[in-house]
Amino acid sequence: MRSVKIGRVKTACLLLLSLVTANAAGELVLADGGRSAYSICLSSQASPSEKRAAGELQSFLAQMTGAQLPIIGEQAAGTRPVIAVGEGALTRALKITVPQGESYVLRTAGNRLVIAGGRERGTMYGVYGFLDKLGCRWFTRDISRIPKRPRLVTGELNETGAPAFEYREPYFAEAREKNWAARNRVNGASQELDESTGGKVSYYPFVHSFAALVPVEKYFKHHPEYFSLIEGKRRSERTQLCLTNPAVLRIAVAQVREWIRQHPEAKIISVSQNDWTGWCECDNCMRVEREEGGVHSGPILRFVNALAAEIEKTNPDKLIDTLAYWYTEDPPTQTRPRPNVRIRLCPIGACEAHPYEQCERNAYFMKHLRDWSKITNQLYIWHYNTNFSNYLMPFPDYDELAADIPMYKRYGVVGIFLEGATNSAGGAEDAEMRSYIMSRLLWNPRTNVSRDIDEYLDAVYGPAARTMRAYHELRHKAVREGVHMYIFQHGRALHVTPELLTDGHALLEKAGRQAVTEAARRRIRHFLLTLDYIDAARSRQFVVNNGQFAPVDLERAKQLFASVVTRTREFGITEFREGKPLDDQVKDVESHLRPYRIVTMENDRVRADIAPELSGRVVRLINKRTGRDALRAPDPTELGYPDSGGIWLSVFPNYFHSALPARWNLVSSGPAEVVMEGSTAGGLRLKQQLRLNGSELEAISVVENTAAAAVAVTAQSRVEVAGDPSQADVAIEYQTKSGTRKSGALFHPGIPSAGGQPIVGGELPDGEWTAVSPSAPLRLVNRFDPAEVPRCTWNWSVSGENRLGLGVWTPEKNLASGEKLTLHTRYRVE
Ligand SMILES: [Zn+2]
Ligand SMILES: [Zn+2]
Repeated sequence: MRSVKIGRVKTACLLLLSLVTANAAGELVLADGGRSAYSICLSSQASPSEKRAAGELQSFLAQMTGAQLPIIGEQAAGTRPVIAVGEGALTRALKITVPQGESYVLRTAGNRLVIAGGRERGTMYGVYGFLDKLGCRWFTRDISRIPKRPRLVTGELNETGAPAFEYREPYFAEAREKNWAARNRVNGASQELDESTGGKVSYYPFVHSFAALVPVEKYFKHHPEYFSLIEGKRRSERTQLCLTNPAVLRIAVAQVREWIRQHPEAKIISVSQNDWTGWCECDNCMRVEREEGGVHSGPILRFVNALAAEIEKTNPDKLIDTLAYWYTEDPPTQTRPRPNVRIRLCPIGACEAHPYEQCERNAYFMKHLRDWSKITNQLYIWHYNTNFSNYLMPFPDYDELAADIPMYKRYGVVGIFLEGATNSAGGAEDAEMRSYIMSRLLWNPRTNVSRDIDEYLDAVYGPAARTMRAYHELRHKAVREGVHMYIFQHGRALHVTPELLTDGHALLEKAGRQAVTEAARRRIRHFLLTLDYIDAARSRQFVVNNGQFAPVDLERAKQLFASVVTRTREFGITEFREGKPLDDQVKDVESHLRPYRIVTMENDRVRADIAPELSGRVVRLINKRTGRDALRAPDPTELGYPDSGGIWLSVFPNYFHSALPARWNLVSSGPAEVVMEGSTAGGLRLKQQLRLNGSELEAISVVENTAAAAVAVTAQSRVEVAGDPSQADVAIEYQTKSGTRKSGALFHPGIPSAGGQPIVGGELPDGEWTAVSPSAPLRLVNRFDPAEVPRCTWNWSVSGENRLGLGVWTPEKNLASGEKLTLHTRYRVE
């Protein structure tokens, strides 16, 4: 806790009364031999949280000393030795200035000890601060450390305490419970805090609120101009708002007022972009972007400021919160957030292995943080603390956390949301200790994290604590050696080394033998599950073998997965990944875990392996000169696996909708030609003719509408390639239609670790583009007919992989009955 001396004035008249309970050194003997002369004195104006805090103090002091201190009212205090809880007659008599808000004072005066702060939560935090000084810790919902102190003496106290941040939210299921949250002094919206614990910082609605602010269903039909203009059309799918339209602002203000009326407890109202891209490209929005330094946050901040100015007139006590997230992470150059606006800056693309200031992958974010901190002193942070694709995966981010929460404080951040897994029973890797350490850091960024970890491990694991500490260090070994780590990494991630799987397993088994409580053994079993989850995932990697595509040992893969699922359910865990119910994912994996037939085309230069049942995709494209597969191998923890990656054709209703599911089957196959047919529910018939010509794979794709009515459709042919995952050198080379040459590695320090965008018009590749990874080495040339392709999309990532995807698209077409759409693409390995 931050301690500041605020004075050394003694109250002489009270010294006379302190003969028994205060000694010459100014120490107060709060209890001795299981007895106490003290009472806990509660002010007559005590708030619910102060009353509760007095009870907590009574209970924990009883556990420590064996003495039950009575709780009395001020009028009964007289000259008795008391611990005064909360501001009242006693603090006034002693002329103690009581801090407000979440701050508090701890002060001895004669035989009195005063713990007083803001009525809402400050006094309560003071009680927990005092107990913390006495050595009390509340590690998990069921494990605390309340030291036995039959003789409890406190020295002279004269200090204030206050949280480092006004808003402190570890967002894990393990951090919700009321007592744990109050005692660890966190105050976020997800914490189950109520009036008895002084409430919390309530937040409504929960982020990404544009869709609810101006609903597409309600307005798009008659007012498409309220929504984003994207690639020349107002869009209802994957859209944001046209933020420069005055009608949109009027509707939004009215909706926010309605939310405030419905949720009066909410201190913060979220007015924030939907969770996808799709900013408005209309002339007005683009003009604002240009005026604001060419960033997408410009229109958003002007809109949010204008809305906040209106809300301030009716609700001056409310804050309007918006995101600086993904495409809006860069701050505007002109507009500054109004005083009642909070910016929630989200390092969504950051490496979470290393302190941000020390990792070149995070230089881009540090620039954004510095730039925002120059234009607002009310910055909030949305920090990420788990693997959202694999909640159970080891996530060694303690070095990063211990460095970055203090770093945020140095940049003037005033609130932090630490996002983890919140599915019903929780169960993300190490969520309990992580939540505890977070709560310590959020209160006091200078807390000694290593000591906090030791205290936690001692309390939770007893005789196995040292072994668990060794496991904790082993878990961090790869990231300390320089491996980066991201929040959507798949099961092959390099920071989970084979050594961690084997040596980690051995350490955990040893800890399991040393542990003496079932609570410790259960937690150790959970850590074992996190390693076995990865082992099981890796065993499901499909490979081509003997005309089949299947895991190397299919039966073992099935057994490992079944065991992991059983154990996961025993822990009550309801999700392996964010937003996907466990049962659905289990069905998804089980339904795909079988062999698929492979047909192969091959000549002296290239071998192409095709799995007709897997959406007709090419799963391997081997350059026989290098022996290397040019295609990215997807990971078993990706949804839909192994029906993903490679080269494939898919159809969509439009550019922004997800793909239409299609069933494919093989029509014919030979060494130089494979023909497949597919169909979708809406009556589209798909034909994919693959041919091998020298080192080039040619794909002739036809989409035909067999339905009686017209069908809106577009088709994409896509390829995904990958280089060495420990490198970051994927590159793209092409000449644009307007004659500009583009080439070079996609990542360099100073930009995020992933990117991509649609390309249209003169920026389109002139019929050819090449994916490159020099370290692999890899070169794959994708050719197409520019007359057929008005749009290309590409995306790349070096966050855990080193990959690049290239998509070429047909026009968006309303295909008449019987009409066909064609797309010719070629893929050449060099
Ligand atoms: Zn617009
Ligand atoms: Zn890093």
